[in-house]
Amino acid sequence: MNLALDNQPVKHLQVNVLKAEAYDDRYELTLGDWGPRQAENSLEVPRAVYEQAKTERRLSASNNPKDGFDTHARASLIWSTFSLTASPMMTAATYPIGLPGTPWGEAELDTWRQHRIRLRNYAEDVVPRIDALSAQFDVVTYGELNYSDDSYRLFALRSRDWNPTLPVALVTGGVHGYETSGVTGALAFLETQAAKYAGRVNLIVAPCVSPWGYERVNRWNYDALDPNRNFRADGPAPESAALIQLLSPLHGQVLMHIDLHETTDSDESEFRPALAARDGKDYEPGEIPDGFYLVDDSDNPQPEFQQAIVTAVEAVTHIAPPDAHGNIIGSPLVAHGVIEYPVAKYAMCTGITGAPYTTTTEVYPDSPRASPKECSDAQVAAVCAAIDYVLTQI
Ligand SMILES: [Zn+2]
Repeated sequence: MNLALDNQPVKHLQVNVLKAEAYDDRYELTLGDWGPRQAENSLEVPRAVYEQAKTERRLSASNNPKDGFDTHARASLIWSTFSLTASPMMTAATYPIGLPGTPWGEAELDTWRQHRIRLRNYAEDVVPRIDALSAQFDVVTYGELNYSDDSYRLFALRSRDWNPTLPVALVTGGVHGYETSGVTGALAFLETQAAKYAGRVNLIVAPCVSPWGYERVNRWNYDALDPNRNFRADGPAPESAALIQLLSPLHGQVLMHIDLHETTDSDESEFRPALAARDGKDYEPGEIPDGFYLVDDSDNPQPEFQQAIVTAVEAVTHIAPPDAHGNIIGSPLVAHGVIEYPVAKYAMCTGITGAPYTTTTEVYPDSPRASPKECSDAQVAAVCAAIDYVLTQI
């Protein structure tokens, strides 16, 4: 595989690694889809680089006894100290599906689906943790996704001692299935922190809204739709419609909604180019911020609430600085670690309940300074700070 595409050195290269085969001085990695290099699906990595990445937990690994190789859901290797060069830049013209300037049709959608490889298992990773929590929480099955041969039950957990006189706090995770700490953070909150809120607030937590995307480490659902731009009751994404239906009886009762996300390097290496290709548009490269930030609702900003969360998370992980233009992912920084979107207009998850206090967390898992545990801990800190703050406002 030729990594010297244009001699522009990159520090950070993110790939989906399906297999890693060890030789004396190197590993040969078999890659899952990775943009234009899909056809060239292997990569040699110096053994020391690979093992260092693994030691630093920049590789999430599990053993797969079936094929005798390590299987990695996702790997992020830091190349900065090595002479390999590559270009992370991609345009809609180089995205391997579709024709530049032409939106995808059914054939392109089928091709895209065929290349979405199942890299992890919702029934093994997520459902047992939900089952274990059923001792303390009521587990609600609020929908079922049926995609080709795969079906997924959608679960939410509710406070068992639900008291209609108390406010409701809503936590959602895995709206974007690839954003792992959204799922693990929601579950870890329930496992380690939720008990302390008993009798003070009614909790409802949907930890993995998009299980098809979770398994394929993907932003979109089976129909190549972004659930977090399709929170409409009559919308085309069943993940989003099912959550709206679950929560519709609580409309007006939810005091706080926190939606747990990540911003990852694959947003630039895969998902934004894929979006441009899908819609037949030009891809404009962007910059991935190194650190945590929040997305407030520009139609109902709650700056004190956001700052309380940023302050709590800052004790766990670093907060993203703005880029040279004062922006984070193209939006002006309005306060330390905070940008704003019109969430209802964008049909985002935090727009669905009418809650006065809403936020979307964005943890950065690809930072060399952040481990998966730290990312999950940051999500838990954000959830607790959000609940703690709103409890002071009633
Ligand atoms: Zn997201």
